[in-house]
Amino acid sequence: MHGEPRAGGTPLTVYGPFDRSALTVVPLAGAEVVAAAVESARAAFAGWRQWSPADRGRLLVELSRRMRERSGAFVDAEVAETGKLAAEMRGLLGVSADYFEYYGGVVRALFGETIALGPDDHAFTTREPFGPVGMITPWNGPLSQASRGIAAAVAAGNTVVIKPSEFTPSTTLMLARLASEVGFPPGVVNVVLGDGPGAGAALAGHPGVRLVAFTGSVATGRSIARAAADRLVPAILELGGKSPNIVFEDADLDAACASALTVCVGAGQQCAALSRLIVQSSVYDSFVERVGERMAERVPGPRLAPMTTEAQYEKVLTYFDIAQRDGARLVTGGGTPGGDLAAGRYVQPTVYADVTPGMRIFREEIFGPVLAVSRFADEDEAVALANDSEYGLVASVWTGDSARALRVASRLEAGQVTVNGGRTGIETPFGGYKSSGLGREKGFESLYHYTQVKTTVVSTRR
Ligand code: NAD
Repeated sequence: MHGEPRAGGTPLTVYGPFDRSALTVVPLAGAEVVAAAVESARAAFAGWRQWSPADRGRLLVELSRRMRERSGAFVDAEVAETGKLAAEMRGLLGVSADYFEYYGGVVRALFGETIALGPDDHAFTTREPFGPVGMITPWNGPLSQASRGIAAAVAAGNTVVIKPSEFTPSTTLMLARLASEVGFPPGVVNVVLGDGPGAGAALAGHPGVRLVAFTGSVATGRSIARAAADRLVPAILELGGKSPNIVFEDADLDAACASALTVCVGAGQQCAALSRLIVQSSVYDSFVERVGERMAERVPGPRLAPMTTEAQYEKVLTYFDIAQRDGARLVTGGGTPGGDLAAGRYVQPTVYADVTPGMRIFREEIFGPVLAVSRFADEDEAVALANDSEYGLVASVWTGDSARALRVASRLEAGQVTVNGGRTGIETPFGGYKSSGLGREKGFESLYHYTQVKTTVVSTRR
């Protein structure tokens, strides 16, 4: 049924991040339920693809408007499940609604080309949807990631079966119900609830799914890519990161320090977190001290969210031990806050200095409010350290020298580079180099990934 969850099987009890009390019970779907959802998306595709881009776009814009109208309910539901600060979630609600507004508009500018072949052969290309898209999203940004994918996919004429994370399903369900309310035809947006090995794997491997869009960890991304390869369907993969933030001595150090603190957004549970701070030797000691002081002000509770899942909480604590064993210098944090907050999954904002490439906290994604700081002597060393990673999602550079900024940006192996705090948006393509992923989401670019090109050649010979 459109907009209603498809589920079945053993229920999973989800315990909330603030006090670990039981929050919701999620029924876990198996392969049969997934197959029914894919069939619903397949049946809807035939009609949906015939809608004009303008008509599809109008529905998306209306959905965006209604999301803003219901923003309070979305914010409350996602805060309860993820633990995000309410202010962070209000921002993400705006971003999520923006995706529908943006793709609802720009899809009308999705054109093909005309190709000159001579007077009697008239060639043109059109961009056509694939069909049912299988979408799998993680727990760290459920609404914004669902909106990012669904908006672009359905604007382009595809239909969607989305499986949100089993730990944070609510806002995806709310979104699908709202889509139904504003008039999306049944079967255009389908939700299945379930876990990864069950519903997720069944969705990625279903023969009726014509494109797979996955956001999550590198390990799962690899298994999704294999499933897609077996059926020769495209996969868009948005995976992890260990992103560098390079600070040169001639930078605006106040602004650079503020950027280092963004590792606390979502308590560091963001793929694009700037979790490696790489600082020039001449300013290193004072800068690290300053960052440490500012991080310590991010008091867990009012200014720092908890970890969303128990597994993530345990993972961050493990990295505190690993960092210590590997010999990183603890500047601040490195533990849990205790007291009243001990009931929740809170960790302290943490800075480790003198981190070298041989240490695991330099290389591995922690996904918590943890900064690994390293020192460099010159531009070449800064670039070498930044690129010494299997990941390549985003990178940031701070310098007062604009020629150097461009030089370094061009040498960085990352899908998105910001210079001196350049703000990205839903309009800017986003995705990974190296193990951080395949394909791009966001921006107009995303519409290219959610469509395939057809060439038509018409003869006018008599
Ligand atoms: P995960 O890979 O464990 O799970 C992500 C989703 O995949 C969930 O819905 C899960 O149920 C499903 N899944 C798990 N195993 C599966 C399988 N075998 N087959 C099919 N589906 C399966 O990741 P997570 O722990 O939920 O999310 C955190 C990770 O996501 C981090 O590595 C983070 O960097 C990454 N992430 C990337 C982006 C991005 O846009 N690049 C955004 C957010 C998060």
